[in-house]
Amino acid sequence: MSNVKFYLGEDIPLELHKVRMVQKLYLVPIERRLEAIKDAGFNTFRLSTKDVYLDMLTDSGTNAMSDNQISAMLRADDAYAGSQSFERLQEAVEEVLGKKYLLPVHQGRAAENVISRTFIKPGNVIPMNYHFTTALAHILENGGKVAELLHDEALILHSENPFKGNMDIAKLEACIQENGVENIPFIRMEASTNLIGGQPFSISNLMDVRRVADKYGIMLVLDASLLGENAYLVKQREEQWKENSMADIIKMMTGLADLVYFSARKLSSSRGGGICTNRRDLYSKMEALIPLYEGFLTYGGISVREIEAMTVGLRETLDETMISQSPNFIKYLVETLDKHGVPVVTPPGVLGAHVDAMSFCSHIPQTEYPAGALAAALYLISGIRGMERGTVSSVRDENGDEILADVELLRLAVPRRVFTLSQIKYVVDRVVWLYENREMIGGLRFVYEPPVLRFFMGGLEPTSDWPEKLMLKFRKDFGDSL
Ligand SMILES: *Cc1c(COP(=O)(O)O)cnc(C)c1O
Repeated sequence: MSNVKFYLGEDIPLELHKVRMVQKLYLVPIERRLEAIKDAGFNTFRLSTKDVYLDMLTDSGTNAMSDNQISAMLRADDAYAGSQSFERLQEAVEEVLGKKYLLPVHQGRAAENVISRTFIKPGNVIPMNYHFTTALAHILENGGKVAELLHDEALILHSENPFKGNMDIAKLEACIQENGVENIPFIRMEASTNLIGGQPFSISNLMDVRRVADKYGIMLVLDASLLGENAYLVKQREEQWKENSMADIIKMMTGLADLVYFSARKLSSSRGGGICTNRRDLYSKMEALIPLYEGFLTYGGISVREIEAMTVGLRETLDETMISQSPNFIKYLVETLDKHGVPVVTPPGVLGAHVDAMSFCSHIPQTEYPAGALAAALYLISGIRGMERGTVSSVRDENGDEILADVELLRLAVPRRVFTLSQIKYVVDRVVWLYENREMIGGLRFVYEPPVLRFFMGGLEPTSDWPEKLMLKFRKDFGDSL
């Protein structure tokens, strides 16, 4: 994909696929969008796609499948036990991820539930490069704590560091010394660290983590939900791996971990998830939880059709032209926004572009949720639905006080192979307009706050009539444009 040069010199990503099925989208007028975001409690999770033009909420379960994936779905073997579809999936997991034993689960967080219940005891500490919302929720649910050991540069949002997802090895050593090996059931590494902007780790860093894990006899768990893109960026950015195939790089990464789990809603562009390992003892410890929480061991709550799609999708992860589309579109989006002065997380990562809301809305205090306000404002003026990744997505401490997030990001996910370049250009256009009118965006406050994972269904309201004023400015500048 990135290898095609244009005679006229334009530097744009070129798709190496064609669109063979389409879905109509609705770009409703801004007056309707104002009603919709009010009804949704200024929480983009609660919008209906009837009111959304570009759905950039997430890359989870929203990716375009290939013709081969769709056709494989038709040969699914609908058996409760011993399904051949599952056997085909096991083969693909062994071939691509290099792991013999596979436990199927209905999605990534279900893997986190099974792993956390099996290995975490109250008081345990889990060192990790960085948390993911659902991983953290399951660790806390089982009485554990997380120790986030990103190296210091990782939270510098505008940076040229190619591997901001790397773990700080000195901090890992110190964490183990401080907490004691017996309190650390495993170290967790997350490929393409989601919440800091989809930033990858390098293989050499993963090797260093492995060395420490071996030194202390601690298990290494890899969250491989965004593994394909991390592998692609290793190939792009890590000198020693330039000449290697995606297959080599992926196997190298999974080979360093004792336990690998993934959300197939991302990895393999299907739906479902899995936990895999070459260690029979680990498999045996978790096995009984699958029928309890997920389903029988040969489907784990996943439809057999999706299992077939996952099988094909996993193999397609080895195809660079398949995997590169989303990171290359993200690169284009991030670099173009950056050129226009919009504060975005750099270098471009995976899964989406991440706008730095703390800088974009520097006038909004963090207790009034700048990233949540920015997400609502962007939806209002464009019909683009992004996701808040900041303090709304955080939690409260034991005293009920806000734990302010390290970063306030508006994530604009770019689902794999879904959008066209003109749609990405529309995103740039509207974000730049909003940036130029950023002082008009105001804060939000909670009116309904669920106790767990509040960001999903929580309801908020604006702290003033800023949405109405922003709408009037839009009408003034764009006339009767949608
Ligand atoms: C999405 C995601 C998960 C959770 O997966 P679900 O299928 O949404 O439950 C876990 N870890 C990472 C890194 C993710 O991106």
